[in-house]
Amino acid sequence: MEYTDFTKLNLSGFCGGSFNCGCSAEHSVSTKKILLRGSARQQAAACAAEAQPSGHILFACADDMYGSCARDFERTLAGTHLVSTVRFPERFRPSVQSSARLVKHSEDVRLIVSYGGGAVTDVAKYAATITGLPHVAVGSSPATDGYLSPWAELYSGEEKRTFAAKPPEYFLLDTDAALGAPPVLVAAGFGAVMSKWGALLDWSFARALTGERYCENTARLIIRSAESVRRVSEGLIKGSRDAVLELCRALVFCSLANQLEPGGRVRGGSEKLLADMLEMLALRRGKSCRLPGEYALISLCYTARISGMYFEKAHANVLMPPDPLRRAHLLHTELGMQQRDYYARAREHKLCEDGLFEHKLSQYRSEMHALSLSTLEKARWALDAFKKIYADAGYWLSGCLLPGEMRRAFALAAEAGGGLTVLGHLQLRGYLEHLLMA
Ligand SMILES: [Zn+2]
Repeated sequence: MEYTDFTKLNLSGFCGGSFNCGCSAEHSVSTKKILLRGSARQQAAACAAEAQPSGHILFACADDMYGSCARDFERTLAGTHLVSTVRFPERFRPSVQSSARLVKHSEDVRLIVSYGGGAVTDVAKYAATITGLPHVAVGSSPATDGYLSPWAELYSGEEKRTFAAKPPEYFLLDTDAALGAPPVLVAAGFGAVMSKWGALLDWSFARALTGERYCENTARLIIRSAESVRRVSEGLIKGSRDAVLELCRALVFCSLANQLEPGGRVRGGSEKLLADMLEMLALRRGKSCRLPGEYALISLCYTARISGMYFEKAHANVLMPPDPLRRAHLLHTELGMQQRDYYARAREHKLCEDGLFEHKLSQYRSEMHALSLSTLEKARWALDAFKKIYADAGYWLSGCLLPGEMRRAFALAAEAGGGLTVLGHLQLRGYLEHLLMA
C-alpha cells in the first residue's frame, strides 16, 4: 500500500479508506460520506435514502434544536420515509439509559438519523451499535470533536464512561446551525481542538518510555487542525463566519483522527482524564453541565504544568536513569518489560539507533520537558483566548471544588487511565502528591 500523507487528503479522500503509513497500525475509516454543508436538509435526506431507500426511520434530537432546525430535517425525511421522533430534554445528560430509549423505539426501524451536538450523536451512535442499524449523523454544533469517533461517552449512573461504538455511516455537519451557535459552544469547540496538545504530550511520553507506537502522520493531522484554529482565534472572538467554519473543519478532522487512530491516543491524555473527573464533581455539586472542551482546556493548564515540573531535572533520573542497570530494574518492576524488549520495541518504532541508547534516553527527558513547557504555554494562551470568546469560562471551578478537591480529582484521574499517561505514571511513582503541593 502506498504512503498517504493525511494532511494532503480532503474529507472525501478519507471516506471508506484504509491507509498504511508505516507506523505498523492499519488506519481505516468506515464512514462512507463526510460533508460540511449549509442548507443541508436535502443532503441529509439523500444520505438517508442512500443508507436505506425506504422504510422506517428513527429520528433523534434534543428539544432545544427541534424548533429551530431539527423539525425541518424531520419533515424533509418524512417526504421519503416513515419517521418516528425521539426528543431528549434540552442539555440532557447523555447516558446508557438515553440510548436504551432509542433502542426501545427501534422495532421495525431500518435506519437511525440523529440531529444535534455531541450528546445526541453519542446516544444515537451507541443505540446504532446495539441494534446494528445504520446511522446517519447530522451535527449541529461546533463544540465537539467526537462526531466520527469509534466510541460514545455516556453516563452510567453517576459515572461517565467511554463505550466502543460504531461510527456513523454518513456524517453531515449542518454549517447553518453551527454558524448560529452561541459563543459558549464556539468556545467549547475551540477548547476541544486546543486541548489536543495534551493528547500528543501523553502519546509522546508513552513512546519515549515504553516504545509505544506513535503515528507521526495522525499527529500531524491534529497539529494542523490546532494550528489552523489558533490562526483564526481573533475571528472566533469577533464571531466571524469564516473563523467558525474553520473551527468546524478542524473539529471534523480531529474527530476523523479519532477514527483513524485505533489506539485511542488522539481522544486525549492526562487532561482528558482530569476533565472527566472535574465534570463528574461539578455534576455532583449540581453545577450546570459545562461542555467537555472547556473542562479539557482548563485541565490541560493543570496537567501540562505538573508534567513540566516532573521532567525538570529534580525528578528526571527516576524516569529514565542513564545507568543501564537501574533502568533495567525500573523497566522490569514498573512496566514488566525486559530492557532488551524495550530496545527491540524502540528499534522497531525507530526511536533509537543502535549505539545511541544512552544518549537518546537522556535526550528524551529534555525533550519531554520542552514539550511540556510548550504545551503549557499553548494551553495558557488558549485559555486566555477562550475567555475572550466566552467570558464565563472557568468560573464554575471556584464555586465547585471544595478545598483539596482538585488533588482528589487528580488522584482519581491518575487511577482511571487506560494506557500509560504522565498522570498515571506520577501516581504510580508516588510523585503526584508531592508535585501538587509544589
Ligand atoms: Zn500511522
